This record gives sequence, C-alpha cells and structure tokens, in this order.
Amino acid sequence: MTKYIFVTGGVTSSLGKGIIAASLAKLLQARGYKVTIQKFDPYINIDPGTLNPYEHGECYVTEDGAETDLDLGHYERFLNVPTSQANNVTTGRIYQHVIQQERAGAYLGKTVQVIPHITDEIKRRMQLLGESGEYDIIITELGGTVGDIESLPFVEAVRQLRWELGANNSLVIHLTLVPYLAAAGELKTKPTQHSVKTLLEYGVQPDILVCRTEHKLSQEIRKKLAQFCNVNINAVVESIDASTIYDVPLLMLKENLDKTALTKLKLSNKNEPDLENWKNFLGKLKNPTSEVNIALVGKYVELPDAYKSIIEGFIHAGATNECKVKVSYIAAESVTKENVAEKLKGMDGVLVAPGFGERGLDGKLNAIQYVRENNIPFFGICLGMQCSVIEFGRNVLGLKDANSFEMDANTSNPVINLMEEQKNITNMGGTMRLGAYDCEIKKGTKAFAIYGKTKISERHRHRYEFNNDYLKQYEAAGMIASGFNPETGLVEIVELKNHPFFVAGQFHPELKSTVANPHPLFVSFVAAALANKKSK
Ligand code: GLN
Repeated sequence: MTKYIFVTGGVTSSLGKGIIAASLAKLLQARGYKVTIQKFDPYINIDPGTLNPYEHGECYVTEDGAETDLDLGHYERFLNVPTSQANNVTTGRIYQHVIQQERAGAYLGKTVQVIPHITDEIKRRMQLLGESGEYDIIITELGGTVGDIESLPFVEAVRQLRWELGANNSLVIHLTLVPYLAAAGELKTKPTQHSVKTLLEYGVQPDILVCRTEHKLSQEIRKKLAQFCNVNINAVVESIDASTIYDVPLLMLKENLDKTALTKLKLSNKNEPDLENWKNFLGKLKNPTSEVNIALVGKYVELPDAYKSIIEGFIHAGATNECKVKVSYIAAESVTKENVAEKLKGMDGVLVAPGFGERGLDGKLNAIQYVRENNIPFFGICLGMQCSVIEFGRNVLGLKDANSFEMDANTSNPVINLMEEQKNITNMGGTMRLGAYDCEIKKGTKAFAIYGKTKISERHRHRYEFNNDYLKQYEAAGMIASGFNPETGLVEIVELKNHPFFVAGQFHPELKSTVANPHPLFVSFVAAALANKKSK
C-alpha cells in the first residue's frame, strides 16, 4: 500500500518546504523506496504558466508539457526521476474540474460546496499518483502557510484523508521557523507553538516538526517544542541554514528525519541509505580547483528565482568540472554598444537567458555581438537562441531589420517566426509548444561532440521558431543548424562554425540537469569558459 507524507508550512513562507520534501524523498529513495513528490498550490491560476516570473519565479516545464511550480525542479534535480502534469495541482485546477462536472450535471441536483465537493476533488488528486502502485511513498507539499484562508480546503482534505487512510499510513511534517532574537540572545518557540495550534484547530496534529533555524537547537528547546506541540522529542528536527541546498539531505540524515518518518509509517529502515554518488557530487562541489565567471544576461535578473534551473544547471556543471561557477546577473536593458565591453569585462562565458517580450532585446543583441566577435564562449537558451539568430541576421547577413515576429510583426525579415500551429491560438494558458520533443543532431557538429549522439530529447516552452526560409543564407555565412526536430524540421540548435563555443538551443536544457545527470550543454559550456580563462 502506498503511504502518504504531507508537508505543511508554518509561521512564514519561503522556509524551503520544497527542499525539505526533496531531501526527505532523496533519503527514502537512497534506502530503496520508490518515492515521488507532488505540490498542491492554493492560488487560483490553473497553473503558473501565465504568471510573471517576478510573481512566482521560474515556470518549470515537465516532460509531458505541464507548466509547473519551480519546486518540481528541485524534486527532479534531487531524485533524478521525471515529474508530470499530476505532480502539480492548484486551486484553479480543482475548481475548474468541479465546475465542469457541475455543468455536465454530474452532481445530480445537489448543492456544490467546498466540503465535500472541493475537498473530495483535492483528495482524489492527492491519491492519483498512488493509483498506479508505482510508488511506495508519495510526499505532498502544500503551498502557502497554515492559517492562510486559501489553504484551508487543502488542510481539511489532509485531515479527512488521514482518517480515511488509517493509522500508520500517513504522516504530517510541519515545517516551521524558530527565530533567533539577537537582543535576547535566544531562540524563540512561540511562533511554532502558534502555528501548530492553528493546525490543531483544523484537526491536524503534525507528527514531525522540522525547524528552520540559524542556530543549533538545544535539548531544552527541542523538549519545549515537543511538549507544547504534542510530538515526540525525536520528531523535533533541526534544519539549520546550509551553505548549499545539496547539503540538506545529509543534514536531515543526521537528524534522522527519514528514520523517524519510516518508523511512523511502519516501514523498514533496515537498508542504510546509499548516498555514495551524492557525497561524491558534494565533495566536488565544495572543493573546486578553479573558478570561472559567467554572465547571465536577462531581463528578470533582480529575482534570481526567475532563473532557478539555470543556476542549478551551473552548479551541477561546475561540480563536474571541479570548478566554481560564479554567475553574475546582468540586466539586459543596461547593456549598450558603448558599455558592453565594460559590462562583460572579466567574463569567461556569457549566457543569454530565455524570456518573453521586447524589453532588453537590444542589450541581449549587443552582448551577443560582442561575444561572437571576441570569441567568448556563448550559450543561448530559447529566447537567447532566437536573439543569436537576430544578431547574426542583422550584423553578418546585413538584414538590417531582422527580428522576431514577437518583437516586430511588421519586419520585412522575420528570421524568427510564429510557429504555424500557434497562429490561431488566442488562449494564453498552456498553449505554447510545451514539453519534450525529439531532436536529431548532425554529425560533425559541436552539438554532436557535446551530446555524443544523434538522437536527443529536450523540453520546450515557446511560440516562435527559426524561420527556415533563411536557413541556406545563414549556413552559407557560418551559422549552422546542428539540431532539428525530425517531424517538423524546426531548428532546435544553432552554432557558429568559426568560434570556440557558440551554441544555442530553442529548448531548455536547464530543465533536465540533475545532480545525477548534469546536462552536457552546461558541462561543455563551463569547460569552454574554463579553457577561455586559461588561454587569457
Ligand atoms: N518568447 C520566445 C518564444 O515564445 C522565447 C520563449 C522562451 O525563451 N522560453 O518563442
């Protein structure tokens, strides 16, 4: 029987429920259990696909094309197991289904209400991934903070589900904050007591408290927390600030979070966790033998969460190269023809980020022209790839108004065009080219040297594409298409022939980089930046 672990959050948001859930899942996986994680978000958007990155950070795309919360990225990076549409559910999605059912007459004249109809639908979704029998344990993270009006139906669904599943088949982990008051020189337990009280008002007794803290929890504090929150003292887990999120599984192991959870679920904890590879990765991450500077040019640089997976991709690739990757965020809008050399001074490689809309376009083109002409390693992702095509069109092919149809619908040279199947789309949500598509790589290209094979699959999120009417002209001038979608001929990768490293993809390689499998494009780009640094 599948067992369920629910993770709730108390006191404040941003305590890192996703990291705790992923770390616990990692430990359980390392003990041989099949685990998946899902996230339930209380907001009303159907999915985060329509949210501005400033609102919600990066939108993470799954293999099956779901636009999801960035926590799913952590789940995949830690577990190296793909997630899917079913792993992220919002209030909007729940209501959409219930309202559709109501219109279809499925409720047979009944009044449709939050309880039982909304909570029933939440419970159904919570158990969906369990139906296949594929997983021993499903971890469900509840977005938001206990006490929020909008999370209430989710907490109520957890209460009901725990009762339905019966004793020993589920547990609740409450992630909370134990703040340190510098003036008093003390850690304070009161906020945790209050947030557990709120949970209790809703009928949910947490089994384990994971306490975020800047200082170690003394035995005394642990005892106080245990006593006032009705949990066993072993179930008070310290989660002290770590220098990297990749330390957290080992910190949780030290605190026996996995053992405590397994004991409560009446599952065996005999198999010691095999964390050999994880520790190897951490060893390399923490003992770099060199350092490179990478510029990330984008328009959401004020909020690094907007580029979460890219940053993590660099961390994985850095560890592989035993090199610290220092990423500098450069606001695209600030890069002019005059200051580009100054802005990119000391950079060993430049990445132009994905994005939407015109803001920052000129700055991205200036950065690309500079790295192209100065043989600085370049890596373009999605819009970054499209920008490299525009730049080459304007400055090498002499197509002065070369542009993307997205930025200028009246250009006489739409070198990046709206995809045919996008032309009649009016709904914005979930309608881009999303998820995994195959790509065929041409032998003898840099892309082939990087991937070492001709057939790959990568994840996508875009509406525009390289305009193949221009392909011959580009290739004759030295920008070649080294990867194509085999069904449609859509250009997936472009690269420059006469450049040490100039590679750009229409897809998002960052979404597939994990601790166990650092992405080859990131690994090669970092290696190229390192080589560039050494040659200086
Ligand atoms: N705005 C571009 C498109 O829709 C690029 C998207 C992206 O970078 N994810 O094609």
